[in-house]
Amino acid sequence: MSISHQPVMVDESVNYLVTIPGGIYVDCTVGTGGHSFEICKRMAYGGELICLDIDSSSIRLAEERLSSFKDRIKIIKESYVNLDKVLKGLGISKVNGILLDLGLSSYQLESSGRGFSFLRDEPLDMRMGEERGVTASELINTISVEELQGLLWRYAQERWAKLIARAIVEKRQKEPITSSRQLALLIESTIPTKYHPRKIHPATKTFQSLRIAVNGELQNIESFLEKVPLLLQKGGRLVVISYHSLEDRLVKRAFRSWEKKEIGPRKLPVFHQVHPPLMKESKKGGLRPGQAEVKANPRSRSAIMRTGERV
Ligand code: SAH
Repeated sequence: MSISHQPVMVDESVNYLVTIPGGIYVDCTVGTGGHSFEICKRMAYGGELICLDIDSSSIRLAEERLSSFKDRIKIIKESYVNLDKVLKGLGISKVNGILLDLGLSSYQLESSGRGFSFLRDEPLDMRMGEERGVTASELINTISVEELQGLLWRYAQERWAKLIARAIVEKRQKEPITSSRQLALLIESTIPTKYHPRKIHPATKTFQSLRIAVNGELQNIESFLEKVPLLLQKGGRLVVISYHSLEDRLVKRAFRSWEKKEIGPRKLPVFHQVHPPLMKESKKGGLRPGQAEVKANPRSRSAIMRTGERV
């Protein structure tokens, strides 16, 4: 199978990440290995790259693509939430750089057969790691109409959340919703045509919110961000690439809290900042892909990259 996925902001991210060619690095979401390939190219003798992903089929593709770097790479099927445990198991306490490229890969969207795309007719699964937790189909066929509505609003700000949630519940009383096409058609016919968004498919937000819910994506990011500074050496670097504002907000907030541990009453400036900063963000506001990249790879258009260093 050919690899359709183009790594996003690959030069910007890898140039910042790799400071010492003989250092130890982590790619938390190897996918089909786009970023990892570039990281390997910049590493020298003694350098080591640890790659994680929860999707076995992506890992197989990454293994193939990265086979010429076998000597410096370890690919492990594990969630990045457990990065601390993975490193401990390898006898590593701190690393020189950690990359987290969020979202899903074009490979998963187009070729995994798991119902990520509203343009295809596939079983409505949406689990990134094939065997973890409930599928999107199980989710929408069982939860209450209020929970459905809440999820569509919380994870995608879908303005038609109430209407869509009701339509799903009504539909599932007749037959279970089991395919991506079935769901996409249901939403298309539920949102009045004159209100269909102009630039995106009317089912875009529903699909996004289900994917986030099924994979616990925001919880994963939060629990990763709680642990990550302590896994970096002094001067070690963190790069996070997000694809929507809910993800980016968590990263932004984390950088803010690392820079300024506000403990103690605000009135007393002496006690105000008890802890020295843990990490420093390198560019406030984050970085966006250039025009040329967005044109060549539309998937990159929503990307925002935040980078920082352990101090
Ligand atoms: N940078 C990669 C693309 C990453 S796409 C490349 O250039 O090819 C995002 C990847 O994150 C997907 O492969 C997905 O399976 C993986 N992923 C999602 N949740 C994860 C988790 N909790 N732990 C590890 N990987 C995860």
